[in-house]
Amino acid sequence: MTAHLSNVLWTDEELSFREEVRDFCQKEIAPVADEIDHGPYPRDLLRKIAEAGYMGVLHEKEVGGSKRGNSFEIIVAEEISAVNGGLDMARMSSTTLYGMPVSKFGTEEQKEKYLKPIITGEKIGCIGITEPNVGSDAARMETRAEKDGDEWVINGEKRYITNGSQADYMCCFAITDPSVNSRQGMSAFIVDTETDGFSVVKDHDLMGMKSARVSHLKLEDVRVKPGMLLGEPGQGFAILMDELDSERTAIAGEAIGYGRTPYEICVKYADERIQFHRKIREFEGVSFKIADMAMKLEAGRALTLTAARMLDKGMKATKQASIAKLYTTEAAIEITNDALQILGGAGYTTDYPIERFLRDARLMTIGGGTVEILRYLIQREVYKEFLPRK
Ligand SMILES: Cc1cc2nc3c(=O)[nH]c(=O)nc-3n(C[C@H](O)[C@H](O)[C@H](O)COP(=O)(O)OP(=O)(O)OC[C@H]3O[C@@H](n4cnc5c(N)ncnc54)[C@H](O)[C@@H]3O)c2cc1C
Repeated sequence: MTAHLSNVLWTDEELSFREEVRDFCQKEIAPVADEIDHGPYPRDLLRKIAEAGYMGVLHEKEVGGSKRGNSFEIIVAEEISAVNGGLDMARMSSTTLYGMPVSKFGTEEQKEKYLKPIITGEKIGCIGITEPNVGSDAARMETRAEKDGDEWVINGEKRYITNGSQADYMCCFAITDPSVNSRQGMSAFIVDTETDGFSVVKDHDLMGMKSARVSHLKLEDVRVKPGMLLGEPGQGFAILMDELDSERTAIAGEAIGYGRTPYEICVKYADERIQFHRKIREFEGVSFKIADMAMKLEAGRALTLTAARMLDKGMKATKQASIAKLYTTEAAIEITNDALQILGGAGYTTDYPIERFLRDARLMTIGGGTVEILRYLIQREVYKEFLPRK
């Protein structure tokens, strides 16, 4: 076990699972970690991840999962992200962001048909919330689904959708009753991306996360059978809110991974690089950065595990998941940036993967809820605790 991983917080089962996932990542992903940022979408690698069981840790055994829970999901998220961030973003979008709404609100038939193949890696999922005119203010979504006989007809655009152009299924949020507040008028659908009227406008050219694909999608008169509605009509907003707590906890796990590898590289580098006849780690300007990185990684893991444990106990974890995501994503940017600084010119080259981790980490104070929105949510939860409604 690596020295920096505090053992007291984790069970023996979790610790040995981490070792297992780490070995898998070293064997299967590390040798191609740079290459997949320049190549085709890594579908085969996602299938290998699925075969190893890492798509299914949150899911029921009936659909091929292991139902180990969120504390295991954050381990998978950290370990894969410590090797390649975009790959885990693709995995998580499929199995968690798409998969959890289907798992929690889908019928047995929907789970059999639309979730099982995600967990085996045969199919890829994505989640469609964001639109050209709607980001943080998701409640003002413009995509509409109208009833036509038994079927629903969906029209709208979804932007920045991870896996969008590669996905077989999308969990698509749309307004079904514009006459009421979207908290009551939004619904969630499973959309088969082979359906007529579904198209990919383009894949976005991203700063980082190059091994994933993030797309602009269009839905023009996409007809959806009644059996594709998730939950009840009007339950969409509740499904969305439920999904976000597990998404944010898992992203916090990923963020620790983005920081961890640059940290490990710079700790070693600072012990080997000599300037002014001394190892550079002997300069406080360097060693204090390393101390701060160690602190942020430990604190981030503890916060993330707290949110995961709460979710595993069935508790509401909006505040803890938001705190974990906010803290770890800001820390990941600071850690990757400081690690790059410690390597000097070498850090700015692609001889080391730190620049890749910095570019990947930069996304996560935006995706899945910006840090501004998370601060808003956290203070709102604080005031709910301090000023409970009578
Ligand atoms: C690479 C990538 C992958 C993504 N994957 C997905 C996906 O799979 N599915 C999906 O649905 N979406 C996805 N997104 C979208 C992502 O969730 C949104 O980008 C994010 O929610 C912010 O929305 P926005 O970009 O429209 O920014 P906006 O909401 O327009 O915000 C712009 C700025 O204004 C600030 N702001 C907005 N409102 C407030 C406020 N009330 N108080 C303070 N500041 C505020 C924001 O914090 C931000 O700094 C992805 C985005 C990216 C870049």
